[in-house]
Amino acid sequence: MMDTQLTIASMIKRTEQYFPKKEVISRTQNGVQLFTYKDTVGRMKRLGSALESLGVKKGDRVGTLAWNHHRHLEAYFAVPSMGAVLHTINFRLSKEHLIYIINHAENKILLIDEDLFPLIESIKDELKTVEAYVIMTDNERLPETSLQPVYSYEQLLDKADNTYEFTTKIDENDPAGICYTSGTTGKPKGVIYTHRGIYLHSMALGMTDTLALSEADVVLPVVPMFHVNAWGMPFAATWMGTTQVFPGPNMTPKIIAEMLEEYKVTFSAGVPTIWLGLLKELEEGTYNTSSLRALLCGGSAAPKGMIHMFESKYGIPFLHGYGMTETSPLVSVTRVKSYQSDLPVDERLELLSKQGLVVPGIEIKAVNENGEVKPDGKDMGELLIRGPWIADAYYKGDSNSDAFQNGWLHTGDVVTIDEEGIIKIVDRTKDLIKSGGEWISSVDLENALMAHESVFEAAVVSIPDPKWQERPVACIVLKDGAQHKVTKDEIMEYLRPQFAKWWLPDEVLFMDEIPKTSVGKFLKAKLREQVEKQLVI
Ligand code: AMP
Repeated sequence: MMDTQLTIASMIKRTEQYFPKKEVISRTQNGVQLFTYKDTVGRMKRLGSALESLGVKKGDRVGTLAWNHHRHLEAYFAVPSMGAVLHTINFRLSKEHLIYIINHAENKILLIDEDLFPLIESIKDELKTVEAYVIMTDNERLPETSLQPVYSYEQLLDKADNTYEFTTKIDENDPAGICYTSGTTGKPKGVIYTHRGIYLHSMALGMTDTLALSEADVVLPVVPMFHVNAWGMPFAATWMGTTQVFPGPNMTPKIIAEMLEEYKVTFSAGVPTIWLGLLKELEEGTYNTSSLRALLCGGSAAPKGMIHMFESKYGIPFLHGYGMTETSPLVSVTRVKSYQSDLPVDERLELLSKQGLVVPGIEIKAVNENGEVKPDGKDMGELLIRGPWIADAYYKGDSNSDAFQNGWLHTGDVVTIDEEGIIKIVDRTKDLIKSGGEWISSVDLENALMAHESVFEAAVVSIPDPKWQERPVACIVLKDGAQHKVTKDEIMEYLRPQFAKWWLPDEVLFMDEIPKTSVGKFLKAKLREQVEKQLVI
């Protein structure tokens, strides 16, 4: 067979050739704009030319701090197609982590939304490699800014060479993108996506038994474009000529509901917190969501009650997917097999609430101290994954040894696998809390707490939360003879300047001791039980 290269530039070539009339609908600060794919691919090429004129070369990292909109989509294709690497930056990270990842990825250029540039202004003196800032705005005039040198995205595109074509000198194994994920403690870790990985992952999104993305769909990615490439949807949808609707800055459940109705969206994707918000909005307002053929929920476990409401009350089929930053992300998706179609409601919901069946192209197994777990739905072990869109290292080798062993990615997720091959996540070995789709490091909070003069030891565990899925609770043992009785408020005041607001614990519980294993490690499962009992959860 021919060894043709699986590159991102070849994907947009197809879009340009066969779907020039199809559309990208984009909500920005100033309203909703509409672009055909002909316009869009033209703008992608001009962006490539503009970046080249700013000195971007093969292998350089170009960062984005942006919401979900058409300009971000343009960068998704232009940056890798000119041979550079797209670094989608999570602007919800703490300033310390933002500085770290921008410097660690050695970003040369940053493309920044107008409302997000004050954030970058506040850390600009710490950024060691950035040579230019490009502001993505609809407004003709750039805002006053201390960033230097600064350019307007639209003016750069206006001046760009409109005969520019992307290079053909890209190997499919070249890096196309980089995304950082939370480390258990300390620093985030970078995951590099190759052209080949993104291409094959996009193919997988189109398979009938996965997401079945097709030209006839109208997709609305709610999941941020800095979260594992909005789960790969913009790549797959552009390639297939699918209409894309981007919800833009500061979207609310109301905006999502309105856009679903107005643009007759057929497929949307987001974390459970988003769908819980949408459910409330659908209950309060009157919206026609009959165009939806499926909602994809991932990033955290989808609650059964929520799945049931969407399906039974609104007739919206629910897909539950599982993946990680390290896995591009799609690994598994819940699908009811043909011979399961008349399962009783309870069993069907139970099935949909699990993390599903591994998608074609990826292999999984689960292991524990006795070896590979039995596929009986009871035996538990850590989930291991391998396949052509699974990372095999962290960028610059950070913490590689724990996660990548003998050709398998060790996920830190503890699962059962049943007779049908369905994966169910039952626990997590990584010391992280996932709140509204974003990670909080319990270890970082514990370290900060233990540096408090009156704290002897501290452990942070997650409790279930109806809106955010998980929230942190701090459990504290005070030092003997601590000068005064420390209060919850005092602890919160102490933590406040050190962490992003949403990292702060919801509760602070004072205890006589924290349960430990025989080797002195915190026994978090036991502690969580105690906390849930104390808080009557
Ligand atoms: P991230 O790298 O931020 O995408 O997070 C990946 C992690 O999120 C996984 O290792 C799981 O712990 C968790 N996760 C992702 N999808 C699901 C899901 N459907 N159900 C439960 N946990 C999930």
